[in-house]
Amino acid sequence: MEDCLFCKIIKKEIPSSTVYEDERIVAFNDINPQAPVHVLLIPKEHYASLNDIPEEKKDILSHLLLKAREIAREKNIAEKGYRIVLNTARESGQEVFHIHFHLLGGRQMTWPPG
Ligand code: 5GP
Ligand code: ZN
Repeated sequence: MEDCLFCKIIKKEIPSSTVYEDERIVAFNDINPQAPVHVLLIPKEHYASLNDIPEEKKDILSHLLLKAREIAREKNIAEKGYRIVLNTARESGQEVFHIHFHLLGGRQMTWPPG
């Protein structure tokens, strides 16, 4: 999608610190990290949010989640603990309207989230 920041990251029109890439997804470090580990995982196909993922594309969600788990293992936070966040639409605080999972870890998290 033309005016989408994350589509531009996928096309490498905007630089990012890539953690993982395959034919379907990209993972990269958040530019404004909220924890020692803060990785964003996105599908290469543009969908604005979870609300826009069609039923027949549901496999992309498990691929993103299991890749987040793998990155957590690689970054040695799997056993200590981590949080995966999927902000969806305005009241959640979603700012970039290309669906993305946040993988956060490396510090004690609090609950409830803000
Ligand atoms: P949201 O609030 O939509 O769930 O999260 C958007 C995330 O994208 C934020 O954590 C923000 O720091 C991150 N972000 C925004 N612009 C850029 C950018 O240009 N590069 C990277 N790597 N992350 C970005
Ligand atoms: Zn996009």
